[in-house]
Amino acid sequence: MGATPGDERNGALLCTAMGKTGKPCRAFRAAGSTLCRFHSPESDGDREKAREAAREAHVEEAGRLRLDTAADVRQLIEETAQKLRAGQIHAGAAVALDRLARTALSAIEARQLEEATAELAARRAQQGPTVRRRK
Ligand SMILES: [Zn+2]
Repeated sequence: MGATPGDERNGALLCTAMGKTGKPCRAFRAAGSTLCRFHSPESDGDREKAREAAREAHVEEAGRLRLDTAADVRQLIEETAQKLRAGQIHAGAAVALDRLARTALSAIEARQLEEATAELAARRAQQGPTVRRRK
């Protein structure tokens, strides 16, 4: 099981609690619970513990992030834009994520160029040595 990275968030995986704003919580459920770590009873009444749990959940979520393909990067940009618009992240965080996305894209492009170059070289090698004409 387990959602592949880049999947839309499955409602069955999300916390069933209501957020402060009256909207459903968007955090992933903790293992073996219908609530996220932030809303789980263990962290009830303990703000510091709850904050720590939420931070861990974020780290867990970030660990699922993959930036191997242009589609992955696009997904990150879309999620970042959504979170920014929803006020879930600060503008500074969005700028940092945008910068990371650009770096990831550059790396992907560089890798693709490398692969294309290697493919060309392999093709040339298959064709055998070319006859050089000197004038
Ligand atoms: Zn929750």
